[in-house]
Amino acid sequence: MPVKNIRLLLFCLISFWVSAQETPADSTFVNIKDYSSDFVFDMKYATEDNFLKAQVYDCAECYLRLKTVKALVKANIKFLKMGYKIKLFDCYRPLSVQKKMWKIVSNPEYVADPAKGSIHNRGGAIDITLVDADGVELDMGTPFDFFGREAAHDYEGFSASVLKNRKRLKKIMLKCGFKSFDSEWWHYNLKGSNKDPLSDFKWDCP
Ligand SMILES: [Zn+2]
Repeated sequence: MPVKNIRLLLFCLISFWVSAQETPADSTFVNIKDYSSDFVFDMKYATEDNFLKAQVYDCAECYLRLKTVKALVKANIKFLKMGYKIKLFDCYRPLSVQKKMWKIVSNPEYVADPAKGSIHNRGGAIDITLVDADGVELDMGTPFDFFGREAAHDYEGFSASVLKNRKRLKKIMLKCGFKSFDSEWWHYNLKGSNKDPLSDFKWDCP
């Protein structure tokens, strides 16, 4: 092989290696803020404004596996075109935080038993709603983490506009690779993420 071709081959191999090093794997935990600035955040568990009445995160960051972020960015682009944005209430939740929550409320109806874990502990679940161009949340009938029949997707005792808002959120999320959760209108799981391992990865707080 002529020297010129060997050089070209070496250049290609090195370029490929460098780009492979720079691109994280789909299963890597990443901060969603590094991939889009179009989300709105209201990380409830980094405050005491949640059903536990306790702050269980040291800071309000939204980490997820890269594949979850990619699918969520795709969904948000669709919502942006319609004049809405995704607002995030909860993202990946380290297993140690799940244990903390379980200690406060040891009831599997409200908190997933850490022995089994939740898709939040696998980096594939998010709790979300939609906001309009002024940042106002669309009326979804109940607040986030409302524990009652009214939070279920099949509850039909709301006005047509509430039911339409829930459907608007669900339709795009399903199109972008997520699965809805029957009893909580705000919770979505990335398809296949139930096969990812439970994790206790912890992010740095600024
Ligand atoms: Zn959830």
